[in-house]
Amino acid sequence: MKKLFLVRYGEIALKGLNKNYFVDTLVRNIKYALRMFEEVKVEKIQGRVAVYNVADDIESEVISSLTKVFGIVAITRAVQTASDMEHIYQAAGEVMKDIRGNTFKVESRRGDKSFPLTSPEISSMVGSYLLDKYPSLKVDVHKPEITIGVEVRKETYITYGDIPGQKGMPMGTAGRGGVLLSGGIDSPVAAYMMARRGMKVTGIHFHSYPFTSLDAQRKVEDIGKILSLYNNGFEIAMISLTEIQQEIIKNCDESYLTVILRRFMIKCARLYAEKNGLGALITGESLGQVASQTMESIICTDQAADIPVFRPLIGTDKDDIIKIAQSIGTYEISIKPFEDCCTVFVPKHPQTRPVLEKVLYQESRLPAPELIAKAMENIEIIKL
Ligand code: ATP
Ligand code: MG
Repeated sequence: MKKLFLVRYGEIALKGLNKNYFVDTLVRNIKYALRMFEEVKVEKIQGRVAVYNVADDIESEVISSLTKVFGIVAITRAVQTASDMEHIYQAAGEVMKDIRGNTFKVESRRGDKSFPLTSPEISSMVGSYLLDKYPSLKVDVHKPEITIGVEVRKETYITYGDIPGQKGMPMGTAGRGGVLLSGGIDSPVAAYMMARRGMKVTGIHFHSYPFTSLDAQRKVEDIGKILSLYNNGFEIAMISLTEIQQEIIKNCDESYLTVILRRFMIKCARLYAEKNGLGALITGESLGQVASQTMESIICTDQAADIPVFRPLIGTDKDDIIKIAQSIGTYEISIKPFEDCCTVFVPKHPQTRPVLEKVLYQESRLPAPELIAKAMENIEIIKL
């Protein structure tokens, strides 16, 4: 009888002929997440991934790492035994010994159809055995305190206690994207949402040093460290917008400052994406949240990009975004009060309905290609 964790995956199982590719990527990502635990073994088994050799003293760390791996629906504690009723009884008896609760039910699943008993027969026989062995227990099929699973395959797994996973798709199965990462609440959540669908994300941060401080950049790095736990590592390109911002302030109408600045961000990010094989950009915009996120502003911003710009939070309310930020661990960092390049020079009356022709006319007063080329010359890459 061997203790282990069984990792269950959901959506991937529907992938037909591509299923192996998705499962193999998931296995690779699990191994990466557990790389510091040398003795732990990760193995693909029929319909599941098994994680063996988890000593008691590293158990909570292993679980915490697994709960950050995308593609996992649940992590289930289990013991593995031979596929015959004697061993199954014995293993179920041992498992029950350590669990507290008064009511239980047994749920069986027969992956190996050559096994002589049906699933309901297995459940009922294991249930009777447990009732005999532990007379204080009662069966409750509707709201049991304990659910014991019996999964009969080549080996049999007795499972108990599900720990919910992140769900989503395995990292690396949906291409690569560049997230415009500010120090705020929304963009880290947007990065997480795309990574959760399997996209490997890279950060692109714009600063206006010395108008913005180095501490503000360190805050973005701290957010990147958290994102690296979900994204198999994380990189941030730090790009200076100082000169661009000064030129905009000198030459353009104040009320158009934000939308023009945003367009320059997109243009720089788009060049960075091209050089680094990123197929899409990602922002944390949410419709109507602020002046720069009205439909008209987004139309003007989007026009500056010729690759897809994903906005996974476009229809999400701020309080729901905050809940996600809290659950992934970026919220506490995001609310630290450091200035951002967009907050250093905020127009008193930002245009909520910018008109593209006016934006383009104002931009034509600037030497845009030269300014962008210069900003792209001195990019600092931070690897986390
Ligand atoms: P966030 O919480 O992500 O900062 P926000 O609600 O403050 O968003 P804005 O400041 O309007 O909204 O920014 C909208 C989006 O533009 C951000 O979600 C982010 O993707 C991008 N962005 C804003 N500032 C920066 C920056 N300094 N560097 C990189 N991207 C930025
Ligand atoms: Mg912001």
